[in-house]
Amino acid sequence: MKEKSELPLPEPESPEVLAIFPLESVRQLYGFLYRRRDSPPATHEIQEFITQKFGESQSEAMRRLRSLRDCFEVHRYRDGSLHRYKLRGWKSTHAGSMRTHISNKVRAQVLAPMRCAQCGQTPLENHVKLCVDHKIPVAWGGNSELANLQPLCEECNSGKRDFYATYNHHAEKIQSAVTHEEPHKRIGELLKSFHGEWVPAELIGTVASMGQYQDDWQRRLRELRKIGWEYENRVERGSGTQAAISTYRLIRWEPWPNGPIRAAINGAEWRKHNS
Ligand SMILES: [Zn+2]
Repeated sequence: MKEKSELPLPEPESPEVLAIFPLESVRQLYGFLYRRRDSPPATHEIQEFITQKFGESQSEAMRRLRSLRDCFEVHRYRDGSLHRYKLRGWKSTHAGSMRTHISNKVRAQVLAPMRCAQCGQTPLENHVKLCVDHKIPVAWGGNSELANLQPLCEECNSGKRDFYATYNHHAEKIQSAVTHEEPHKRIGELLKSFHGEWVPAELIGTVASMGQYQDDWQRRLRELRKIGWEYENRVERGSGTQAAISTYRLIRWEPWPNGPIRAAINGAEWRKHNS
C-alpha cells in the first residue's frame, strides 16, 4: 500500500480537509500554510492570521497549528530570529500518529468478528454490511489504533454519526475531555469545559464511555461529590412523544488528586465513615 507521505497534499477546500478538521480555524490555517508553501509564514504571521480572522488568542492559534501537525508534516525552521513553518506533506505513518489512516491489515482485524458491535447483526444471518467505526470519532481526537476501532453495521454507523453530528460544535471541548484515561476525569473535564453551562446527560454518558464502556456514569458523577465537586441536574419534561431531556451543570470543582481518582474517592468515603 502506498505511504500517505507520498500522496499529494489535498486542496484547502477539498472534502478530505473538511473531513479531517471539523474546526474552521484549523481548515483556514491549513489553507494559509498551503498557499504560503513557497514563502513559509513565521510564528507571528500565523498568530495574526488566526487572531484577525477568528478573534482567537495567540495561544489558541498555536493550538490550531498543533491540530494541523497531527495529520500533516509542518517543518519548523529558524530564519534569523524567526521560526518559520513549511507545510510539507501528509504525516508519515511511521511517526505513529497518522490518526485517520487505516491499513488493510487493521481493517481485516477489526472486521474479523463478522458481527456489528452495537446491534449484533451479522452479514451472514442478517445480510448487513459491516464497516470500520472509530469508537472515539477522529474529529473528537480519536486515533486509528486497533483499540479505538470496531465493526458496525451501516445502520448503526449512520445512527451514531447523526447523534455525534449534533455535538460537533462542541468538538474541541469533547476532544480535551476524552483523552483522559479515568472516567471520572473524562466526565469532570467535560463539565469544566462548558464553564457552568448546561451539558446534556446524553453527551456526558457518551464521553464517559469513550475508550471503555461505563454502565453507570451517573454513579461516577456522584462520586465526584465525595472529593468536593458540586453540580446540579435539571430534567425538562418531554412533550408528547419527546423524551425528557436531562442536563447537568457544574457549580464547583476541585483540582484533581495527585494519585488515582478512585483512591481519593475511596479515601474520602473511608474518612467519612470513620470520623
Ligand atoms: Zn448494527
